Amino acid sequence: MSNIEKTVIIGSGPAGWTAAIYAARANLQPLVIAGDGVSRERMPGGQLMFTTEVENYPGFVDGIDGQKMMATLQKQAERFGTRVLASFVTRVDVKTRPFKIWHINDLSGQPEALLLAHSLLVCTGAKANYLGLESERRFENQGVSACAVCDGALPRFRDVPVVVVGGGDSAVEEASYLTKFAKIVYLVHRRAELRASKIMAQRALSNLKIKPIWNSILEEVLGNDADGVTGVRVKNVNTGYVDNIACRGMFAAIGHTPNTSFLEGQVELNEKGYIALRDGFRTFTSVPGVFAGGDCADSVYRQAITAAGMGCKAAIDAERWLAEEGIH
Ligand code: NAP
Repeated sequence: MSNIEKTVIIGSGPAGWTAAIYAARANLQPLVIAGDGVSRERMPGGQLMFTTEVENYPGFVDGIDGQKMMATLQKQAERFGTRVLASFVTRVDVKTRPFKIWHINDLSGQPEALLLAHSLLVCTGAKANYLGLESERRFENQGVSACAVCDGALPRFRDVPVVVVGGGDSAVEEASYLTKFAKIVYLVHRRAELRASKIMAQRALSNLKIKPIWNSILEEVLGNDADGVTGVRVKNVNTGYVDNIACRGMFAAIGHTPNTSFLEGQVELNEKGYIALRDGFRTFTSVPGVFAGGDCADSVYRQAITAAGMGCKAAIDAERWLAEEGIH
């Protein structure tokens, strides 16, 4: 039988690298399956690879570039002996032990391979949903964002009009947050009623800096290479009326999708696909020996620092569980 890894970590965002730092220092000899980079969703480093500046992670007075931050976390994990595999996990079998993990590298053409592990830490993150417009992709990091808390305080959004798309708690929360910096926040929603909780909706709608644009869909992000976003084109779904709104930012707040499809039928997921944790503040999943940290198990906070904290907890939980199981 092949070697059995003590701890395999799937995912290489803040949760994955932090789990690796703790697991390596606890002598669990972790192997991180970091992603094969074949697409945005399979990018080693995760969502922060697409963030220009991280200004809210404690310890970086002047902020830090997202890619640099992930490279630094990786180096720190490797310094303690973490091994890294540029590969993407296609499926797992955690119904029997040791756990089976199939992975592939579609970039190098490496065929699917099988790994065995005593413990598994899932830190695969989530992806923000975008509208799917070509113009949205074009202006990413040039005014298009899916995270107001990450990007809202950047100079480009100060004292200018910005647009938030969506009608859920995220949209009203992001809109409210952006009023601290922006001149005015247009909240573009496809219906005339918000999905957000009453209290959060009321708070947003009573804020004079938030102007709802009801029954409207965003058809295109407007801009140019020099200035980035300069406006958006919206269409009223009832009247068909099309209007351009001048703005310097477009924040998509239409939900997130956790990267957990490979766990279906193996680990309990909640109704929205997030990994269901056994206990509010621990990282145990429905399967003993499988732990989860970061955005794949957190639909609420979704911050780099909270993901890192959960990765730390997952490694500590795994270390204790392995010791209890007598796996050294
Ligand atoms: P959500 O509740 O699923 O809302 C998504 C919103 O985006 C909906 O208003 C939806 O419109 C709209 N939408 C979806 N696809 C769209 C599209 N293609 N084009 C235009 N609009 C589209 O997602 P969320 O707001 O991210 O919240 C997710 C979960 O986290 C919820 O359970 C929420 O309560 C929770 N959350 C809590 C807090 C908090 O308590 N502080 C903060 C954020 C999130 P329709 O309404 O027409 O479907």
